Amino acid sequence: MSIDLRSDTVTRPTLAMREVMGSAEVGDDVFGDDPTVARLEELAAGILGKEAGMFVPSGTQSNLCAMLTHCERGDEYIVGQSAHTYLFEGGGAAVLGSIQPQPLDQEPDGSLAFDKIAGLVKPDDFHFARTRLLCLENTTWGKVLPLDYLESVGGFAETHGLALHLDGARIFNAVIASGKSAADLAAPFDSVSLCLSKGLGAPVGSVLVASGSFIKEAKRWRKMLGGGMRQAGILAAAGIHALEDHLERLADDHDNARRLSQGLALIPGLKVDPVQTNMVFVDASGDQVATLSERLQDQGVLIGGYTGGKMRLVTHLDVSANDIETVISAFSEIFRA
Ligand SMILES: *Cc1c(COP(=O)(O)O)cnc(C)c1O
Repeated sequence: MSIDLRSDTVTRPTLAMREVMGSAEVGDDVFGDDPTVARLEELAAGILGKEAGMFVPSGTQSNLCAMLTHCERGDEYIVGQSAHTYLFEGGGAAVLGSIQPQPLDQEPDGSLAFDKIAGLVKPDDFHFARTRLLCLENTTWGKVLPLDYLESVGGFAETHGLALHLDGARIFNAVIASGKSAADLAAPFDSVSLCLSKGLGAPVGSVLVASGSFIKEAKRWRKMLGGGMRQAGILAAAGIHALEDHLERLADDHDNARRLSQGLALIPGLKVDPVQTNMVFVDASGDQVATLSERLQDQGVLIGGYTGGKMRLVTHLDVSANDIETVISAFSEIFRA
């Protein structure tokens, strides 16, 4: 089998995960009858220190439900230029919610600078959209939002009358890298979306967590978007297993990413960004670049396309420490030639 570094979404459910899925107690979740979905929602909300949760098929739908709940038609959300909610979700908030995005460049650490945000909050004047929401991402492009930033963002948002949403698709990678609890990292935010289908290794699903009243409203949007699922406990069981058994092991992915970055950094022609979590970004130069993906594939190594001029290599639970050595050797061989 190939070593697949394209994304941490390529993981396959483990045998243990398939077993809990197979024996999950289920009911019709649109009727609120599925005990396993309810258990997952409670578990996720508890871990993130929020009142309630909502299980959804994807992170994209989770973020969209959150934005539709926070904002009305003609409102605006402030978001990073290369944030998932702006760049990689088909413009859903604008297309389906008539919510105008106000993107801005992230700082090198992944945060959005307060003075820049403040300059983009529109005055109360009918010429403008109503700036309602600030949307952040943690981790973002493999980086953990600085803790002192998280400490001040709540006060900043309050001063400017902004609600706060966190796209926490990989919040548990931030937990492992920072040593903080998920509840601490989630504390400033009114709503948080997390992905079960990334490094946590579940086949499907995300959970949106927030206050009870927020989730009640978000469930209306989920139904409208086609995200009401019936015997979804089969999927939720995988999510529970992921939250109970796959959190700590994210540290292995981080170790593997670090080792990969160290190995690649020694190869002439490769420039490697500092690694914080499970993503390695590599700048490659030279004649090898044009055929690099193909040549790696010949050696059983799959890498993602170039994003922002760099290759992205992502570690996850189906990539072992041995695999990392194989990948480093494959790169060495190609760049030696
Ligand atoms: C993967 C991801 C999402 C959601 O993706 P889905 O594929 O819709 O589950 C949202 N935000 C970030 C940062 C992501 O990486």
